[in-house]
Amino acid sequence: MNQTTPLLHDKLAWDGKKLVVTDDAVINKIRRKALSPSTSKSMQSCAARWVGERLLRSEDEDPFAPAPLGTSAHSVMEDMYDEDVYERHERSLALAEALTVRDADIMWPDIESEPDSVRAMVRLNRRRWIEEVKIAYEGIFVIEDPKTIEVHSREMQIDGLTINGVPTNGFIDRVRYGVNKRGKEGLIPEDYKTGKVGNTRFGDDHGDQLRIYAAALKEKTGETPVAATVLYTKFGKARDVDLSPAAMSKTLKTYELSWKRHNRYMETHEFPTKVSALCGWCPLINACPVAKEEGKKVSEKVADQMFSSTDLGIPALRPGASVAAMASTEDTIVEHHGQDITFFMPDPFSYGIPDEQLEAVERASELAAHMYASGENPITSLDKDHGMAKITEDKVWVPYTVEGELNPNSYAAMGVFGTAELAVEALHRAGLAINGSNVKALAATFQHIVAEAQESWTGSTSASDGANSRMRGALRTVLATLPMPFGEDEAAWDGWVVAAVRRCKSITAVALALFADERPETPWTALAGVAAEAAPAASAPAPKEAAKAALKAPVKAEPAADEAAADTAEAAVEAPAPASEPKRVIRKAASKPAPADDLDFVPDDFAADADVFVG
Ligand code: SF4
Repeated sequence: MNQTTPLLHDKLAWDGKKLVVTDDAVINKIRRKALSPSTSKSMQSCAARWVGERLLRSEDEDPFAPAPLGTSAHSVMEDMYDEDVYERHERSLALAEALTVRDADIMWPDIESEPDSVRAMVRLNRRRWIEEVKIAYEGIFVIEDPKTIEVHSREMQIDGLTINGVPTNGFIDRVRYGVNKRGKEGLIPEDYKTGKVGNTRFGDDHGDQLRIYAAALKEKTGETPVAATVLYTKFGKARDVDLSPAAMSKTLKTYELSWKRHNRYMETHEFPTKVSALCGWCPLINACPVAKEEGKKVSEKVADQMFSSTDLGIPALRPGASVAAMASTEDTIVEHHGQDITFFMPDPFSYGIPDEQLEAVERASELAAHMYASGENPITSLDKDHGMAKITEDKVWVPYTVEGELNPNSYAAMGVFGTAELAVEALHRAGLAINGSNVKALAATFQHIVAEAQESWTGSTSASDGANSRMRGALRTVLATLPMPFGEDEAAWDGWVVAAVRRCKSITAVALALFADERPETPWTALAGVAAEAAPAASAPAPKEAAKAALKAPVKAEPAADEAAADTAEAAVEAPAPASEPKRVIRKAASKPAPADDLDFVPDDFAADADVFVG
């Protein structure tokens, strides 16, 4: 397809993985006042494609495309079951064919005044069209004997109904009276499908649609349907849909989630992408950066109907922004801990969904995303094969998961992660190698200091305790004020650890005093005469040359553009940096004795038994 003016340059823009609608008029055009099952499916799939399809839908559809042929087949079936026009005994292949020819006469009129070449082409198309429409519906005679069908309604409109809090619209193809497999009589909503028999391996869109129809039918008539059926009229197959409370609940929760997503997308104007096999049929594929990144190609079947990237002209808001796909996921349903869970694309904008079940759906999405990202299929991966599937997060105060692992959501996890992160930060600031042995040794050292100080305060060493968190905060201050003896011997480290513990205890003592003591009138009078001996040291002290040797594997200089630059960089790394000095505060004890309450203060005597905070 060729387009002289870019179609969408002033309407849409790519922003990383999202499609942004830049024109309010477009939002007004695509915003739905109510949700239908098909739009719900789109909200769970690629929302960007949904926007593209709304804007690029062709008015002149190929009459031989699956959708128009399906519409024509629907029309024949709708009329055949019209009890106001035809008696039940009249429903036959002959009647269906007569209805098809009737429609063909309107669509492909044979006009005698036209040249033979034109008439011949119309007649050829007409014959072909009649055959293809018949192929799309004749399977209904394989599924059922139409003469036996007791129709309640055709094309039942469900607009204006609210299903699970969601304003809904749509039509139910057919509602009939019938008997379910357990012998119960009642209403049965049905939907004609002229495409392939749905594969429930990757989700059950058709089942979801019928469950929503079942809920709508109940809302509209007050009667609970006894069954729901998908009629695959091209292939002569029917499928009963599960209407159990669990299946209904899951579908309706997803429907609610779709509505929330729709509203959020309309508010933010941002529509996330989701790569899938459907990318090949997406009208935006030639311009979609995510599809390009994922190597998605246009389906050959529709290649000649697609606009090029230039035709579409969708600009990028932030050229170069990461467009790596979040995960090549298909919507799917798997059994997880005894429950069917729908895997959706992780929605980067999902937040504030209060319902626990919706949270479970979202968590499942993440799990699926991770599994796909690591090349696994959630359907074929068993729990025992996938460590992630074994972690069940719990409340923050529960340190272990039911599987006996650290609960990632717990205070304990925050404690140990915080300690490990602190070790990495400290090594980085010191310019030392961040490797497994260094990080583990330093993190364990920090843990020791924190546990010692914590135990002396509360008698517990639990990482879940609030006291542990307070001590980790105190340790941060220790690290900023008491340089670690990198490069020095074991005795130096022994001394530093003792000093660090004491300083944590000292901080605790001051904090407890602040909490317990009465506030003095003018506490700053004790500061009179206190002066800094030297300028404050840098907060991130550079390592001594010897420190780098002690911890081995010094940080490599970044690769330089040329050798001279490399030499310069190497020299910069190797040059001994001045060891930092902690801020040294001299208390003029001779002229101004320490107040009596200093006696309760734990002395900090790392290097010498001197003032508590003298390094
Ligand atoms: S090409 Fe794929 S990812 Fe991109 S908008 Fe279309 S369906 Fe979505």
